[in-house]
Amino acid sequence: MTTTGRSRLARRVKLKEAHIITRMMNLAEGLDDVIKLGRGDPDLDTPEHIVRAGQQALAAGATHYTHPLGIPDLRRAIAANIVAHGGAQYAPEEIVVTPGGQQAMFIIALGLLDPGDELLMPCPGYNPYLQAAELTEAKLVEVRTGIDTNFTLTADLLRQHITPRSKLLVLINPSNPTGTVIPPDEVARICEVAVEHDLLVVSDEIYARLTYDGHIAQPVAALPGMRERTITLSGVSKAYAMTGWRVGYFAGPGDLMPALAEIHHSFAISTSAVGQHAALAALTGPQDCVEDIRSTFDERRKVLCDGLTQMGIPHAEPQGAFYVYARVAETGVPATEFCERVLRDARVMIFPGRMYGDYTDDYARISLTQSVPRIHEALARMAEVVKALRAEHASP
Ligand code: PLP
Repeated sequence: MTTTGRSRLARRVKLKEAHIITRMMNLAEGLDDVIKLGRGDPDLDTPEHIVRAGQQALAAGATHYTHPLGIPDLRRAIAANIVAHGGAQYAPEEIVVTPGGQQAMFIIALGLLDPGDELLMPCPGYNPYLQAAELTEAKLVEVRTGIDTNFTLTADLLRQHITPRSKLLVLINPSNPTGTVIPPDEVARICEVAVEHDLLVVSDEIYARLTYDGHIAQPVAALPGMRERTITLSGVSKAYAMTGWRVGYFAGPGDLMPALAEIHHSFAISTSAVGQHAALAALTGPQDCVEDIRSTFDERRKVLCDGLTQMGIPHAEPQGAFYVYARVAETGVPATEFCERVLRDARVMIFPGRMYGDYTDDYARISLTQSVPRIHEALARMAEVVKALRAEHASP
């Protein structure tokens, strides 16, 4: 079997991102002491009380399928949590717990998109949404954003891309890979465009509790006219350091949910019982762990941004999430080449923006997934490569 796949749908999925990551992973395998700032999987451990709840659930026999939509107590806790953070009211039947928010993206795309429908998405943006669009044979409409606006989607920009086939808008706020938080009043204007053009919206709010410098990620479904057209997607992976437990969810209006719940059931039957019990403990237990996690990323972000600035590498201002999006092409080589060089020569793994559907090969995403001393070490190692590249590309 080749890596290009055999089916019509498999061929449609863009594989260039897969090639980049496979090449980087293969390269890393032969190297010692690689500082991994690639994947969005932080070094932080799940808080102890959550781990304990998982252990207790297992000991008490949580080893079976659960209700297909998710354990009712967990769905009630999710509903309460959404409201507590300024979101819309949902009944437990309007929430589906999935094996990670990642799977929810594909359920939603399969349930809502027909071939030829247009899916609008800010670019660069988290790439699985692009793949979901391609699998359903929807047309991806990239709404290109740039560093001049800190990669912020605006209502005006969105309006320029609307056509009679526009069906679904994906908003990822805060953004992966750019760390942008769209200001609340701009989110409101974007939602007015969605109402005017009868768009459905997937609002990916998985990083909503990880924002900095007072930035706030406005929950979309709480805005006028939005609840009936919005699917809110989130999960516990990021705010509670629970990436490996694989628990996410989506919530939406009652008329859309039964079909989506059916697709979820076909994919997963239900989400892991132990993961759901741990997620319940996360959402209903003490919340100071979220602030600890947020302030950890805040400190790391400042260290990384300062280091990049000292190296003369421009970057977006990370207002949320845990990534810094840096214009590494400033060093004289395309970002894909820069990332390979940094991995080979400095043993630091970062990912080129092309993996996130960037329309340029200028940027790299650097994840804040290691401690401050490791980030300092990564910066020192990268500085050597940057110096060498600048010397190689200096005009004679
Ligand atoms: N949404 C965004 C924007 C992400 O970056 C990720 C993971 O990196 C997810 C959703 C999915 O996370 P999970 O499947 O761990 O819930």
